[in-house]
Amino acid sequence: MIQQEIELPKPLDQLTATELERKACIGKVMTYTLKSLTDTFVNKGFQWLLPVALSQSTDPLWPDPGASIEKRIEVDIYGKPVRTTASMIIHKLVASSTAYPKLFILSPNIRIEKAERAKTGKHIYEFTQLDFEMCNAESKDVFSLVEDAICILIKDLKREMNSELSQLCRCESIQVPKVPFKIYDRAELEAKYGLDWEAGIAEETTEPVWITNIPREFYDFEDFKTGKWDNYDLFLPQFGEVLSGAKREYEYTKILSKIERDQVKKDNYSLVLKMAKDGRLKPTAGAGIGMERLVGWISGVKHIAECQPFPRVPGSVQEL
Ligand code: AMP
Ligand code: MG
Repeated sequence: MIQQEIELPKPLDQLTATELERKACIGKVMTYTLKSLTDTFVNKGFQWLLPVALSQSTDPLWPDPGASIEKRIEVDIYGKPVRTTASMIIHKLVASSTAYPKLFILSPNIRIEKAERAKTGKHIYEFTQLDFEMCNAESKDVFSLVEDAICILIKDLKREMNSELSQLCRCESIQVPKVPFKIYDRAELEAKYGLDWEAGIAEETTEPVWITNIPREFYDFEDFKTGKWDNYDLFLPQFGEVLSGAKREYEYTKILSKIERDQVKKDNYSLVLKMAKDGRLKPTAGAGIGMERLVGWISGVKHIAECQPFPRVPGSVQEL
């Protein structure tokens, strides 16, 4: 990936008056975006769950070609080891299979990214996902839901946040996308652009696009016959990945064999394995949208930590 030298976002107390104005403007875009997306999900019958911060079971983030974790946080409480939430994927599988068939969570995730990722402008060590899951759904259902949510958001933003968008010089560059978004297979992109296909497609596309078939964690659906993965990322033009998701595995033997193949610690996933064994895990599909990335793209920031009141830039810890 070509990385330009970028100035890292500063804490609030060090911003000039002009920088504070810009910060406030991005803050308004964030508020509007949160309101629009949560309204869309609630209007479509999703239940809004509150997040958890500590659990025995969290996302293994492995194997994922994009993962670069410097440190995993584990502490003991009440005599048991718990981890800070890397994502609520496991909670989503259980919740959407039981009491909450259509759910979403504004979920704070902690991922201590390697310090060198400060310069990508796309990584922070604490971020928030709008994480959602639907029972008895497939990839196509997620595609149309997300396309709808993004088109509503951008159409309304352009009408109601026109002065903020023009202050951020984003009136022209942000347009309501054409639906349905194009779908590319990761294998085709790799053949065209090589291993740095992510940068290739992000630079070339002028519209949001779906990318499917990305080998990664055990919970994404893999067709053992064809070797294809029924999962997806959403890429934004001139930006890159903003969402990852999948149709999920729910069959016990597949989940077990993938956990063993990936050498992921089985003990951390005993509840989900037990539910799958008892036939209580349902076929679901979902995704997580990185809020700082989405608002960063809309606002045209150089670094997504500009969208955070208290920037979480990899490699540096501020007092607040
Ligand atoms: P993942 O399933 O790991 O791809 O995470 C879901 C979404 O969260 C991604 O598509 C990004 O939008 C966002 N995300 C993941 N890692 C980070 C990070 N370190 N900083 C900011 N956003 C992130
Ligand atoms: Mg991803």
